[in-house]
Amino acid sequence: MKIQSIRGVKDILPGEIEKWQWVEKIARNVFHRYGFKEIRPTIFEKTQLFSRSIGEATDIVEKEMYTFADRSGEQITLRPEGTASVVRAYIEHKMYNPPSVVKVYYLGPMFRYERPQAGRFRQFYQIGIEAMGTDNPVIDVEVMTLLVEFFRQLGLTDLELQINSLGCSDCRPQYREVLKTAIRGHLNELCENCNRRYERNPLRVLDCKVERDRQIAGELPKTCDHLCETCRTNFTQVQALLDSTETPYSLNPLLVRGLDYYSRTTFEVLSTNLGAQNAICGGGRYDSLVEEFDGPPTPCFGFALGMERLISVIPFETVTYSRSRPDIFIVSLGEEAKSQSFRMTHQLRKGGVTVDQDYDGGSMKSQMRKANKSSSRFALIVGENEIRTEKYLMKDMESGSQIEIPAENFVPAVKKRLAEPDDSSSV
Ligand SMILES: [Zn+2]
Ligand SMILES: [Zn+2]
Repeated sequence: MKIQSIRGVKDILPGEIEKWQWVEKIARNVFHRYGFKEIRPTIFEKTQLFSRSIGEATDIVEKEMYTFADRSGEQITLRPEGTASVVRAYIEHKMYNPPSVVKVYYLGPMFRYERPQAGRFRQFYQIGIEAMGTDNPVIDVEVMTLLVEFFRQLGLTDLELQINSLGCSDCRPQYREVLKTAIRGHLNELCENCNRRYERNPLRVLDCKVERDRQIAGELPKTCDHLCETCRTNFTQVQALLDSTETPYSLNPLLVRGLDYYSRTTFEVLSTNLGAQNAICGGGRYDSLVEEFDGPPTPCFGFALGMERLISVIPFETVTYSRSRPDIFIVSLGEEAKSQSFRMTHQLRKGGVTVDQDYDGGSMKSQMRKANKSSSRFALIVGENEIRTEKYLMKDMESGSQIEIPAENFVPAVKKRLAEPDDSSSV
């Protein structure tokens, strides 16, 4: 019986994984430079955590969660996103003690039962950041500039940072009423979704993707014109700080987040690397979520981005990412050479050299073909002749040039050659 993977998921195989590792390495490097540390929350949680944080009436909670009863009958859910678990861990481990700003990042798989379509997977990967414990606009700008720097190092150009302010629990309820009144006059022109959303979540009408609705949305009252004094000052500071870093950005009054706990600064980064303009990351401030889970008042700022989409827009042909290739492929002929080359492989690896070898005992020609296929830089040839003369042949797979390596003390000699640039040896 042939068992296949679950519908809508994807294995990441050698050959592709190098891209992922490269992106992850740059992420860690950049995030550490900005003072963020990794957190690895659990991948499954009590279902309640997500239904409460994301909201009962959302698509994620209603239709997309992988929820099941475990053997003790407890309702368990595979995480559909990362923030809820980070917030849960923050409270559970009292990370707010002693009081200071907690800056963490996470990366890993998330799970949603989505309709299978191009670029959407039921197990997908996210990278996210949460900065917890301050409402200082410096952190808003620090996180946004971190992202721009991360993308720049991935070779992404043509980036556009768009920002907006969503107000706070003081000014947003009033804005909501103003907005609802304005929408009411357009209900018969707006799409079905907007008609459904408008009662409970009128802000979502602003980011409806239906073309006609977008035009109407453009005429509706804007959040940034209805901010209270504190929110207005805050938003001005965010822009001044962005200006001081010379990070280009634009204001997008239609940029909103669906969930109620978002407040003040919200942002998206768009890329034109694939032709059409695509949002590759979104995030913003959420100041009430920790309190909603009975933690202390903890203003937070964060983002999450999908790895699959990110990988699809990176111009891998123009960036240098490390494809894992061996330094040396050992080619050995004859019984004695086989056992000798086995010992050599071990010694080279202990000495820090990446080595692969043939396991099938084929002819010289077939082993060289395997060396080629492994994209090894060099082949180290150990035959009966080489054993007798106590000299091995180290062959540059690209240029074909070769040098002799003395059997005695061969590890330093191999490493010396590896340290030289390609194509510099004599015959
Ligand atoms: Zn406000
Ligand atoms: Zn609509």
